Amino acid sequence: SIRALVVREAQDQPSITIEELDPATLAERPLKVRVAYSTLNYKDGMVMRGLGRLVRSYPHIPGVDLVGEVIEDASMTFQPGEWIIATGYRIGELYWGGYAQQATLDPAWAVRLPPALTPRHSMAIGTAGLSAMLAIMALEHMGVQPVNDAPLLVTGAAGGVGSIAVAIASRLGYQVAGSTGRMSESDYLTRLGATTIVPRSDLETGPERPLESEHWLGCIDSVGGPTLARVLAQTRSRGAIASVGLAGGAQFSASVMPFLLRGVSILGIDSVNAPQTTRTRAWERLSELLDRDLLDQLTTEITLDDLPGYADRILSGQVRGRVVVNLHPG
Ligand code: NAP
Repeated sequence: SIRALVVREAQDQPSITIEELDPATLAERPLKVRVAYSTLNYKDGMVMRGLGRLVRSYPHIPGVDLVGEVIEDASMTFQPGEWIIATGYRIGELYWGGYAQQATLDPAWAVRLPPALTPRHSMAIGTAGLSAMLAIMALEHMGVQPVNDAPLLVTGAAGGVGSIAVAIASRLGYQVAGSTGRMSESDYLTRLGATTIVPRSDLETGPERPLESEHWLGCIDSVGGPTLARVLAQTRSRGAIASVGLAGGAQFSASVMPFLLRGVSILGIDSVNAPQTTRTRAWERLSELLDRDLLDQLTTEITLDDLPGYADRILSGQVRGRVVVNLHPG
């Protein structure tokens, strides 16, 4: 049997139990994997608490990220014993995900684990890190390059997307401003490479004027809401903002003036359906750019039993960096 975290529909919010399952209850799919690690993303918190109507049928096994060893692949894409990473494609939302010791997958959802990454490090990166890399690639595509006189802003900097974004942007030579609601994490952010710390309260209300002083070269935004409108008004000419998340709200109201008078762009980041070639390139770059000691410093390891408590913690913005779930502890 396999251990799994199972979510069932209940009155107010779904029930969560850790159960022993017969692997035959997993959906019939070509790629069968022994899961070594999964992770906790903001979206996993939403799924465990039944928010956002992400799950369509119960019982459900969450976990949008997983890394594991191939048991068998009827499509012959992968060999038994090879290691694969699967993220996005609505794994852990529409399909059962990584919070179980085995998973069955469509081979098109998987990429080979880059040889330079350990399974655990790949999950320290996970969907959050992949999204941070996709955000940087989108900014680069718009011509945003490191300069000395303006920082790249990262909002929600102490979270998962934010922490990895700070680390890779700094490594790429950007001046990095990290915005956080937790000033107690300033030293942590400085260790990751932030050159300036911006209190969340400076940005969380919408702009006073359509165009404010030009502070930011660009931005990787995991907060959304009024913060995004504020950052838009403060981004310098030709700058761009990668919109990754909504930890501070989904709706925003803004003036078009920054688009028209400064040529500022907002770029949408979708890690779930990112094309396979883009993903592979992003994983290669992550594996090159991220210092392994730094990755360890931003990672907390937990087990299936710890997850229910962590769902509330991530939804209330109390998780620092990345949380990796070990499916075979001890
Ligand atoms: P996370 O670890 O919880 O990070 C979010 C961070 O945002 C928090 O750590 C906190 O950072 C800040 N925050 C939390 N509540 C806030 C509030 N009410 N107002 C302002 N800031 C707040 O979550 P994550 O896994 O990194 O995901 C971050 C966001 O990106 C989520 O919305 C997630 O759904 C989204 N996401 C999108 C994609 C995509 O493909 N587009 C992929 C991954 C994640 P501080 O304490 O430092 O302020």
